[in-house]
Amino acid sequence: MKKNVSLVEKINKSKINSVDEVGQRAKRGISAFIKSMLADGKSQEAIISSIADGTAARGIGHIGLSVYNPSGTACKTGCAFCCILSGEDGGTITEVEAKQVFSALHKFQNEPDGRDWNPKACAALDPSTLTCRSYETRPMICRSYISTDASACEKVAQGESGSGMGTLEPYHTYLASLEVSRSSLKGVKRVSTYSLAKLAANAVGGVSLDEALKRSRHNSVELNKEIKRSNKDISRVS
Ligand code: SF4
Ligand code: SF4
Repeated sequence: MKKNVSLVEKINKSKINSVDEVGQRAKRGISAFIKSMLADGKSQEAIISSIADGTAARGIGHIGLSVYNPSGTACKTGCAFCCILSGEDGGTITEVEAKQVFSALHKFQNEPDGRDWNPKACAALDPSTLTCRSYETRPMICRSYISTDASACEKVAQGESGSGMGTLEPYHTYLASLEVSRSSLKGVKRVSTYSLAKLAANAVGGVSLDEALKRSRHNSVELNKEIKRSNKDISRVS
């Protein structure tokens, strides 16, 4: 119990780079997560593991998304320009999300995938229906990305500029929660993040889960870079 109290203290004192309001929300979320696990009788080890693998951050993001019902979006089934990924990384995901995406995709080994539709598309995409093969377990970055204009998404996917798309706020709190998790578990347990594009490509490429995680694991600065992008997005809309 004493160790759990000190973990909550570490969370409250953790120094992070996320926008203050978002960071405070993340700290409250992780503290509430710990209290809820303690109430369920979970062990110290289980609590630390669930924070380290991103279960806590993902849960906080999902709670945030559950109260959103944005109107005027153009998003619909079979619209997949947002699954054409810019750069090699494709976005930041947690260990728990990486394992779920792997589990959904490994049965599609060596079958046509999104890259047969567009070479830059996510390997989780079904090229015949343009739907996600990991839809039920798609990561936070995919759940929180919306647009009011599909033609703008198409332009952006082709490297042109377009407006109307962006990530909903819960994605920013999710990232801040990962930052809080990493800061408060420093020296206790590693909090890794992963590349969505690499994880999906390796999952359908036939390698083991351990190998897919190894090949798609980010270096430690990647989360900081994503937090900087997140902070810019927040300042643009506020
Ligand atoms: S974000 Fe853009 S491409 Fe993706 S579903 Fe929505 S409108 Fe379509
Ligand atoms: S995981 Fe699914 S929703 Fe996310 S980019 Fe890949 S295909 Fe699209």
